[in-house]
Amino acid sequence: MASTVTLTGAENRSVTDNEFVPATGNATIDLENPSTCKHLATVSAAQVEDVDKAVASSKKAYSTWKDAAPGVRRGLLIKLADLIEEHAPEIASLESLDAGILYRDSTGLHIPQSVENLRYFAGWADKVDGETLKIQEGMAITHREPIGVCAAIVPWNSPLMITIWKLAPAIAAGNTIVIKTPELCPLFGQKLAELIVKAGFPPGVVNILCGLGTVAGAALSAHMDVRKISFTGSSAVGKQVLISSAKSNLKRVTLELGGKGASIVFDDADFDNALFWTGLGISVNNGQICIAGSRIYVQDTIYDKFVKEFSARSANAVHGDPLLPETTKGPVISAVQRERILSFVDKGKSSGATLLHGGKALEGAGHFVANTAFSDVSQSAPIMQQEIFGPFASIAPFKTEEEVIAKANDTTYGLSAAVFTKDINRAFRVTGAIESGQVTVNMWGTVNANTPFGGIKESGFGREMGKDGLEEWTSVKSVKFNLMQG
Ligand code: NAD
Repeated sequence: MASTVTLTGAENRSVTDNEFVPATGNATIDLENPSTCKHLATVSAAQVEDVDKAVASSKKAYSTWKDAAPGVRRGLLIKLADLIEEHAPEIASLESLDAGILYRDSTGLHIPQSVENLRYFAGWADKVDGETLKIQEGMAITHREPIGVCAAIVPWNSPLMITIWKLAPAIAAGNTIVIKTPELCPLFGQKLAELIVKAGFPPGVVNILCGLGTVAGAALSAHMDVRKISFTGSSAVGKQVLISSAKSNLKRVTLELGGKGASIVFDDADFDNALFWTGLGISVNNGQICIAGSRIYVQDTIYDKFVKEFSARSANAVHGDPLLPETTKGPVISAVQRERILSFVDKGKSSGATLLHGGKALEGAGHFVANTAFSDVSQSAPIMQQEIFGPFASIAPFKTEEEVIAKANDTTYGLSAAVFTKDINRAFRVTGAIESGQVTVNMWGTVNANTPFGGIKESGFGREMGKDGLEEWTSVKSVKFNLMQG
């Protein structure tokens, strides 16, 4: 029989009304540790009835929560940030155990980013303001009101951080929220639920369900009492969520979907800086990241040197247990994901591209995939067009600025891109011409609590973080006064 790791502090049930409750019919999901392929834990799997109960609980809570003083909302978000910081080692261990995320990435990036977002949006709680406008009849004022019962559906690649990107602005704006955590790695959510109760959130303000996407996620998307849903995940499922909204109550939808980010390296760039960021852009979190810089275009004058040094650097990866400090590369999330990544190796070869390194699974237990890169990839090759969601780079040369802009935009996605150049005029021209929700210059893919993040084209719509991210969780009401009457 497979061994089971003892999980300290991680409840295995969903939270509704601040109570840990089993799923209807005691339905469960078995979790695997992707580093060992051994059974890790069994958690309850929320059913349609459990979604109904959670939404009803959030609806009841909303009737009083919507009038909670801004200082109360601010205080709870700050308290939650403090508790997450205090419990960082435990949360990071859980993310390593079920998602294979490096412990040091969780403590060094995911948790600090989550804490920063909680504190940033806490500051907005008393600044969700409207405007005063002059109109022909007199005066109008606008209020930014909460939307009501909201829902969040979260993917497995950075589960805590993405959950907080939704929870923090939703609560700052005065909504209640039901969160569905990813079925492959829900343990962070069980711990988060415990901390939410400990922070003193009133029952029903935040409910956390662990369940299958096709059951609990689909039920939330179709629910008549959910007024907004914020979804992060694949473009295919995002489209289903949109259809569910259209078929039910036209709930507001924001979609943070896939990407196929272009990193563009001009020959005047700081070479080592470009090498560092492009390498990081496709290896961090094993490339399982929506903003991965998975397409790398390099100017022909420096192409051969870049390809050689890029490939040499990938050999430095230390594969192993994500809990260990010396590990720089953990497993990918599942056997399915590993096979999907590897299926693109044959596609790369048959398209005529050159395999530079990797292209295989690594020996031993666990879903480990070697860093992989192809050079001389044609623009139409599947590995240049499709999101692979793995440590898999597709590299190609370009001659001119015009050519590389056309290539970078030749994708159905538009989430994040990077430009490397020392020429400020070129940086302005190229960032302006790239069709993407975010473009970074001389760095790759940073996310900041005060800066809006989100996609265009099939990468979705709506923004997270920043003031724009807050406004996604509000509804504007105009109140007009006729001042021309006696
Ligand atoms: P996924 O679409 O398979 O699942 C995402 C979430 O949706 C999970 O919680 C899942 O349970 C749920 N789900 C599945 N089927 C559903 C359905 N029919 N109805 C409602 N919910 C359902 O994606 P994934 O494999 O977990 O994550 C990888 C994808 O997420 C990639 O495409 C990646 O680019 C994208 N992503 C985007 C961002 C962003 O901010 N744009 C961030 C991270 C990941």
